[in-house]
Amino acid sequence: MIPISVVEFGTEQEELVLGVLRSGRIAQGELVEQFESRFAELCGTKHAVAVNNGTTALIAALSVLGLRPGDEVLTSPFTFAATLNSILEVGATARFADINESDFTLDPKSVEESLSDSTRVLMPVHLYGQMADMDSLMAIAERHDLVVVEDAAQAHGASVNGRAAGSYGIGAFSFYATKNITTGEGGMITTDDDELAGRLRILRNQGMRARYDYVMVGQNYRMTDLQAALALPQLDRYRESVQKRNEFAGILTERLSGLRGVLEPRVALGREHVWHQYTIRLTPDSGLSREEFVAKLAEHGVGSGVYYPKLVFDYAPYRNHPRVITSEVPVAAHIAAEVVSLPVHPHLTLDDVKKVADTVRVIIEGQG
Ligand SMILES: *Cc1c(COP(=O)(O)O)cnc(C)c1O
Repeated sequence: MIPISVVEFGTEQEELVLGVLRSGRIAQGELVEQFESRFAELCGTKHAVAVNNGTTALIAALSVLGLRPGDEVLTSPFTFAATLNSILEVGATARFADINESDFTLDPKSVEESLSDSTRVLMPVHLYGQMADMDSLMAIAERHDLVVVEDAAQAHGASVNGRAAGSYGIGAFSFYATKNITTGEGGMITTDDDELAGRLRILRNQGMRARYDYVMVGQNYRMTDLQAALALPQLDRYRESVQKRNEFAGILTERLSGLRGVLEPRVALGREHVWHQYTIRLTPDSGLSREEFVAKLAEHGVGSGVYYPKLVFDYAPYRNHPRVITSEVPVAAHIAAEVVSLPVHPHLTLDDVKKVADTVRVIIEGQG
């Protein structure tokens, strides 16, 4: 089976982890600090603050904004539950705008139409490794005095016109096992704002400025050096790994183009996609349901994933939630019913990539 994602570490990681174990200092230490400064470099930001996972990164980013009950966060309905859960966790209200068909991220026009008098935060989700249309979204944020928090959990090192994810607003990243850079569990918040970075560091550490000098109600959101040890060697080779994803995505698109009922993912002008996922749309022209298609892929030894099968608010915990304001989002609803992600990760061989594309072709053309 060609898997949809693979976790693979080398001797560098083994040695770094052993070093941490033998040092006896296994909580947050020097390696976390190194990881932060290297990650800030990747994002082109002044600060990066490491935390224990990506959901926490979103929660921490929202927490330091001083939102009040009734304040709204406007986000995408086509995302992972963590985006919505983080908004609810800080006591804010979630509202949704529709997405673009071309890039699966927030549609600026719909954002403009969905704003209310209570909207304080705009939270674009850089889905599958491609950033949202940040020039348009930042202009809207500017006009309406909104803080931008980027859910960049899937977009490490992605950029728009050379400017990286996490450098437009406050960036929130995840290092969960399946992400482009992984520490098992882990997260990072990026910002250029000294004051905000300071607050995030204090919040992360029980609200302490120095030992027992409590200046806010805090949390324990710390990352450990064991996790940072896993990340550092990945950062050394991250550009090459994205290069590979990009090459594989190119091959998939070339081999799938023109296939009835399959729409390949598009990269908008000026955007560098980091291909966290390679996601096609399976339209009714294919003559197959998504379930049939996914099952046939598996029969042929090709793993796949559906991210995400439904709108994020279309689940029982959110349906009658007093702080979840749902709206008509026809584009997102349509796309959620059609997406299928195919393997594109850097641990594939060229033969694997060709097999993935050829298998899709055989299934669609009715020979499989
Ligand atoms: C993975 C992910 C998160 C949450 O990250 P965790 O590290 O799993 O908590 C948030 N948003 C999106 C879009 C994600 O893909």
